[in-house]
Amino acid sequence: YDLERLLTHRAFYDQLTDIPNRTLLGDRLNHALGRAQQSAGQIAALHVNLDNFRSINESLGRDAGDELIIEMSKRLQSAIRPGDTVARIGGDEFFVLLDPASSEQATTMASRITVSLQQPISVQGSLVAISGSVGVALAGGDTNVSGLLRNADIAMLAAKAAGKRQWAMFQETMHESASKRLNLAGGLRRAIDRNEFRVHYQPIVDLHTGEVMSVEALVRWAHPTLGLVPPADFIPVAEETGLILPIGRWVLEESCRQVKKWQDTLGPELSVHVNLSALQLDAPDLLGVVTETLHATGLKPGCLILELTESMAIGGSDVLLARMRAIRKLGVRFSLDDFGTGYSSLSYLQKLPVDSLKIDKSFVDQIGTHPAMLEAIIHLARSLSLETVAEGVEHAHQATILAHLGCDRAQGYFFARPAEPDDVLGSLTRIASQGHPAKVRAALSLGRVHPEDVTKLPLVSTSI
Ligand code: C2E
Ligand code: MG
Ligand code: MG
Repeated sequence: YDLERLLTHRAFYDQLTDIPNRTLLGDRLNHALGRAQQSAGQIAALHVNLDNFRSINESLGRDAGDELIIEMSKRLQSAIRPGDTVARIGGDEFFVLLDPASSEQATTMASRITVSLQQPISVQGSLVAISGSVGVALAGGDTNVSGLLRNADIAMLAAKAAGKRQWAMFQETMHESASKRLNLAGGLRRAIDRNEFRVHYQPIVDLHTGEVMSVEALVRWAHPTLGLVPPADFIPVAEETGLILPIGRWVLEESCRQVKKWQDTLGPELSVHVNLSALQLDAPDLLGVVTETLHATGLKPGCLILELTESMAIGGSDVLLARMRAIRKLGVRFSLDDFGTGYSSLSYLQKLPVDSLKIDKSFVDQIGTHPAMLEAIIHLARSLSLETVAEGVEHAHQATILAHLGCDRAQGYFFARPAEPDDVLGSLTRIASQGHPAKVRAALSLGRVHPEDVTKLPLVSTSI
C-alpha cells in the first residue's frame, strides 16, 4: 500500500531535511546501546543546536529559517563518518550518534562540527553569520536512551551557558545543577494542591454545516512565576513521574463540567475532546474514572470524545483494546490524535475501536503543494467509516480545500485559538447565532470562495 509506505517514511524521517527524526534516532540508539553492552564498548550522542536560530527566523522569516536548517543538516552529514547518524528532532535541534566512539573521537567530532557551523551561510542571497553549541555525552551499555539524550542536552546547555560557539562534555555535576534549576516535578506536585492548572478550549468546526460541534480541552499550568506554561513543557515530566494521572483526571472532570454548563445555552449536542496520556490509557481503572466523571458532572457519554495517539494504541495489548471497547460501550467515543505522525500500520487501524482520525497539522500545512496525502487519508478514513478532523488550520484556503476534499471537521487558529472558558463562550455563541451554515457550506464545498472572501463569511466572524 503506497500510503502506508509514505506514512512509514514520514514516521521515521524529518520532512524538511529528509534525515532521521526523533523516532528513528531512538530506535538506532537502542540498537547501538544494545551492541555496546554486548561488546563492552561505548557510543556517543552529540546534541547540536544553533546559537541564533530564533533571531534569524524572526528577522528573515520562516523560509530563511528553513534554508538554514537544510544547510545545517548538510554540514552535519558531511562531518560524520559513514555508519554514524544525524537526526533532526525539531526546530534547530540535531543529534549526532557516533557508534562506536571513544571519548577522543567524540570530542574531535564535536570540535569539527563547532568549526563547520561557524562558516557564514548564504540565505536568500545574503551572508548570515551563524554558530552552534554542542553537548557531548558518552554511554556504555548500562545507560538508557532517554538518559543519554538528557545528558547530551544538559551538556549542550552548559556549552551555551559558557558563552556559546563551543562544545562541552557531559559531567555528573552538570546534571545536579540542571535538575535543581528545573525542579519541575516538585513544582508540578504542588501545582495540583494549589489548583494551578487551567483548561483552555478550542472550537472544532463542522465543515459541512459551519457549526461548532465540539471543543478540545487543552491543559495549561498557571505557574506563579513563569506564567502560563504550555503542555509540551510539563506533560513529559508529568508522565515520567506519574503525576499525569491526577492531572489528567482533573482535566477530564473540569472539562466535562464546563461543557455540561455550556450545553444549557448552546444546546445539548456540544461535545468535548479530552486528550489522554499513555499512562491513563494503561491504567486499569480508566473505565471507572470515566464512569464516575460522567456521573459526577452529568455529561452524557455521547458528548465525550477521548483522544489518544497512534503510538499509544499501536502495539497495544488485547487488554487495552478490551478496555477501550468497554469505555466505548458507555457511549464515549475515541479519536486518534496527530494521525500520520506515528508508526502507521494501516491494518492495525482497522482493529482499533476509534471513531475518528485527527489529521496532523503537517498534512494541512502542505495542502497547497501536496494535497494527495491528505486526500488519501480522507479516503482511507471513509473506507473505515471514520470521521476526519483536520488539525492546525491556519488559513482560509486550507479550510476551503479541506471542505472540498470531504474532510468532516476542522480546528485551528483560522477559526479560533484555544482560550479560557469566558473568552471561548463568546466565539461559540457568535458562531452559533450568526452562522449561516448552508451558505458557508455551499461556498466552501463548491470551492467558489476566493481565499480572502472566506474570512468575511459568518463562520469565521470570531475575532479571537
Ligand atoms: P494536540 O492534542 O494535538 O492539540 C493541538 C495543539 O495544536 C494544541 O497545542 C493547540 O493549541 C495547537 N493548535 C491548534 N490550532 C493550531 C493552529 O492553527 N496552528 C498551530 N500552530 N497550532 C495549533 P497545545 O495546547 O500546546 O497542546 C499541545 C499538546 O499537549 C496537545 O496536542 C496534546 O497532545 C497535549 N495536551 C494538551 N492538553 C493535554 C491534557 O489535558 N492531557 C494530555 N495527556 N495531553 C495534553
Ligand atoms: Mg488532541
Ligand atoms: Mg493533535
